[in-house]
Order: sequence, then structure tokens, then C-alpha cells
Amino acid sequence: MTINHQRRKLLILGVGMALTAPRVYAKPQTVPVTLTSGSEQINISLPAGDKRGRVFTLTSPHRVVIDIPLEAFPPSLVHSLTVVKQKFPWVVHTQIAHFTPQITRIVLEVSGAPSLQRTSEAGNLSVAITVADAAPVQNMPVAAPATTKPLLVMIDPGHGGKDPGAIGNEGTYEKHVVLHIAKRLQTLLQQQHGIHAVLTRQNDVFIPLYHRVSLAHQHEADLFISIHADGFSNDNVSGASVFALSPHGAGSAMARYLSHSENSVDVLYDDDFKTNDPYLKQTLFDLDQRETISRSLDFGKHLASNIIKVHHMHSPHPEQAGFAVLKSPRIPSVLVETSFITNKQEEKLLGEPAFQEKMARAMADGINSYFLNEKKNNLLS
Ligand SMILES: [Zn+2]
Repeated sequence: MTINHQRRKLLILGVGMALTAPRVYAKPQTVPVTLTSGSEQINISLPAGDKRGRVFTLTSPHRVVIDIPLEAFPPSLVHSLTVVKQKFPWVVHTQIAHFTPQITRIVLEVSGAPSLQRTSEAGNLSVAITVADAAPVQNMPVAAPATTKPLLVMIDPGHGGKDPGAIGNEGTYEKHVVLHIAKRLQTLLQQQHGIHAVLTRQNDVFIPLYHRVSLAHQHEADLFISIHADGFSNDNVSGASVFALSPHGAGSAMARYLSHSENSVDVLYDDDFKTNDPYLKQTLFDLDQRETISRSLDFGKHLASNIIKVHHMHSPHPEQAGFAVLKSPRIPSVLVETSFITNKQEEKLLGEPAFQEKMARAMADGINSYFLNEKKNNLLS
């Protein structure tokens, strides 16, 4: 595949938005996204009345930034970006993230200077992105060789925003504690092990469960780790646990209880989301998840053997449950319950920076040990 440099290429991303006024703290909106397949034109359409929605460019490298007044973005939008990247070789990189709790930001890195053509129509601002004279792009295979891609871990601090997670008797919030641990883990991975790590949320913002999985795919993560500190009906229950996905429902009573309470979050706050989930539905059917579960269990073992050195474990082996955030078809994924916030001693521990550091360090060591083992196996086979 070669690129005709003289050919003017047009990219218009279609984001039909049925928004009228900003809806702060409203239920996440559904954003219909259409991608005109077979055509070189895709359209970006933003509600003209909402000044938070905007499209602008940046240089070094050339980028088009699209801000959308959206609290939560659907997987279809993530999927559209994947399609765009595959279709247009001059789209070097795409990214989607929560820029602020109410703004979703898309960044398209392009290989030439982009120009924006704006038209206004029926209360919508339409923007056509054109990249003329795109820089030469190497004739590369679709997937880069595994050795050149830096390892990336998607760290998922559980809950956030209007979903507080479990709350301890002394008023400690799970969503805050797990964010501290997640940020610590990110720093340790990057500084001590040279492993790149990205968080699904940087602050106290609500993100539906399936978005967390989509983010991991969008970043082409090698591992996904969701961090929690849940409550249990019995406040004597204590200790850390590591979970991988179970294809047949939860193994233990506790796994059943926890997966029910975690998964019910989306039912409470985002009940129309699952029906709008073609991306995951399709991939879940298409791909063999057994292999991923087996690798998730292996990853869980590396984590558990490090966590047990610093904290009592409810079960020394990875358990299996039907957590929605673990349903990634390709990325080994685990959920770590660092402790039980409903247990008096553990609630106190969870609030202590020294304990947060200890848990983060154990998880970083477990992740590093998993990667080292994977590398060794690849060399041997
Ligand atoms: Zn939780």
C-alpha cells in the first residue's frame, strides 16, 4: 500500500449529537456515531450552541483535537476511531479520553498539516478535516512487531463520580482509596520497571464498566488491572483477593456477592449502555476467551504471590467471577480486592499511605514478574 501524496484526502467524522443544552451530572448520553464506509468522507457534527464542543488543531506533531460535551462515550465511538485509523494511513494515532468529567476529548494525530472546513447547518456545526500532502508513511504491516511495542498496563481504579463504591464505617470511600493506590502503582511501574501505565480515570469521575474495557483496547494494553476495596455483608471478612473472569459464573459465594455488587453499578447508572454495546458483544463471540482467561489466571498468580508477602489474603489463589470489567476478549485482566473497607482494621489500613504504597509495590512486582515470565516463555518456545 503506497500513498499518493498529491491526492487530497478528506476525513469527516460523523458524530450526530442529539444534545440541546449541557446536561451536567445527567445520565450519560447516547451518541449515535455513523461512519460512512466505502467513502473517504466522515463528518464531525457538534451542537453549535454548546461552546464546550470544539474542533481545533495543534502542531508538532500535527493533531486535530475534538472536544465533545459528553460525560461518557460509547464503545461505538472508540470502534469508529479504530476504523478511521485502519482506513486512513495518514491517521497516525487516535486517542479518546475524559478531558474533564463533562468533556470527552478525541485526538487524531495526522501525518500532514490538517485544514478544517466548517459549515453550520440546522443548529449543528459540521467540520470536515482535510489532510493535504500527507507525509510519506512507511509501508508497514497492520500490527507492529511485538518487540517494538512498549508494554502497557491499563490500571482501572474502581468506581468514581456518582458511584462511590463501598463506604467504610468510618466514612472511607472506596473510590478515593483505590485512586490513590492506582496512581501509586502507575508511578512505580513507570519509574521502577519501565512499564508504561495508563489510568482509566485520573480523578473522581464516573466511567461505565464497559468503557473501561474499551479504553484498554483502544490503548492496546497488554494487561488490565482493576483495583477495588469492597465491602462485604459480614464485616469480619478481611484480606486481599485476586479475581480473573469466570466463563461459568462465580466460583465462591464471596465471588458471587462481589461480582453482583460490582456489575450492578451499570444497571443502576447506565442501564441502556449494555444494549448499545455491539463492539464488545461481537468480539466476545468472535474471539476465544479461554486463552485470555488462562493468561489472566497466570497473571493473577504472579500478583497473589507478591501480595501475600505484604498482606493477608482471603484466598491465596486467584478466584474466578463474572465481573464485567474482566470481559476483555484479548487482554489478560484481573480485579484486585486490596482489602475489605467494611472491616474496621482494614478500613484504617486502606487510608494509610504506607499501606497503599505496600499494596501498589506488590502489584507492580507481580506485573513485572508476569511480563518477565512471558518473555522467558516466548524465548523458549
Ligand atoms: Zn469495588
